[in-house]
Amino acid sequence: MIRIQIEPRGITDKRILEAMRKIPREKFIEEKLWSSAYEDHPLPIGEGQTISQPYIVALMTQCLNLKGNEKVLEIGTGSGYQSAILAELTKEVYSVERFAVLSEKAKTVIEELGYKNVQIFTGDGTVGLRDFSPYDRIIVTAAAHEIPSALVEQLNDNGILVIPVGSLYSQELIVVEKKAGKIYKNSEGGCVFVPLIGKYGWQANEL
Ligand code: SAM
Repeated sequence: MIRIQIEPRGITDKRILEAMRKIPREKFIEEKLWSSAYEDHPLPIGEGQTISQPYIVALMTQCLNLKGNEKVLEIGTGSGYQSAILAELTKEVYSVERFAVLSEKAKTVIEELGYKNVQIFTGDGTVGLRDFSPYDRIIVTAAAHEIPSALVEQLNDNGILVIPVGSLYSQELIVVEKKAGKIYKNSEGGCVFVPLIGKYGWQANEL
């Protein structure tokens, strides 16, 4: 997976490559899908949701430019795989998932793998997670029609927010940087995610 799908596409951060080598991706999916665990595409995790393609996980993580001391908020825990990657690379991880059944499963795997620096919550992540804000980094792993203002508010100065923004069918991966209170945006190219559904995301009746 690393040699064929990740490195040749420009993921050069050694810590990310090391974390992806270390974390057993099959732990985050059902046993019947284990033979596909390291393939170059998303996989179903239940509730109509997916564990993202490994390369997209690597790319979004690289965009966060983690050095090891950051407090990170993830919106869209899903399987918990991205949370485990973040746990390897930084100090504190908070993750919010809309479906309780997914957040409970993810909590179990994260505990089994021994991560102590991840806290997983069930709720609407489009409003962020005010109690632990501000965050040095925010990663949204579901597609928004626009950047939720609550997330920008909860981003620290010199912070980075990575989020897919666009239509229900295709998006651009947007990297937002906050510097001296100002917002700078950059696109890292096209992507396709399941929708971000909530107060500042898509409404269920729009799908
Ligand atoms: N990061 C995940 C992983 O490593 O498995 C992949 C997540 S999946 C592509 C997107 C997730 O976002 C889904 O589990 C979905 O239920 C969740 N989601 C969608 N809208 C949400 C919201 N408003 N708050 C929290 N989670 C949300």
